Amino acid sequence: MYRYRCERCGTTSPSVRSRDLAHTERARHRDAAHSGHIPDGEKITYDGDQISSTDTRRVVILIAVVLAAIWLYDKLT
Ligand SMILES: [Zn+2]
Repeated sequence: MYRYRCERCGTTSPSVRSRDLAHTERARHRDAAHSGHIPDGEKITYDGDQISSTDTRRVVILIAVVLAAIWLYDKLT
């Protein structure tokens, strides 16, 4: 996940999935807060791919379904 950080304003954008989206956040911030100028100390950071809670929930449901299928198969055979 990528984030845009403006040190001058002391703000950080929400995490976005691509560097291009972080560049969009940067352009939006430059226009809104700095009249299109480039502030000192801005940067785009990458903190790895984070698993969302929705992804975690899907994995837990999938594991539960597989375990239930194994349990059911074991009961029927
Ligand atoms: Zn700023």
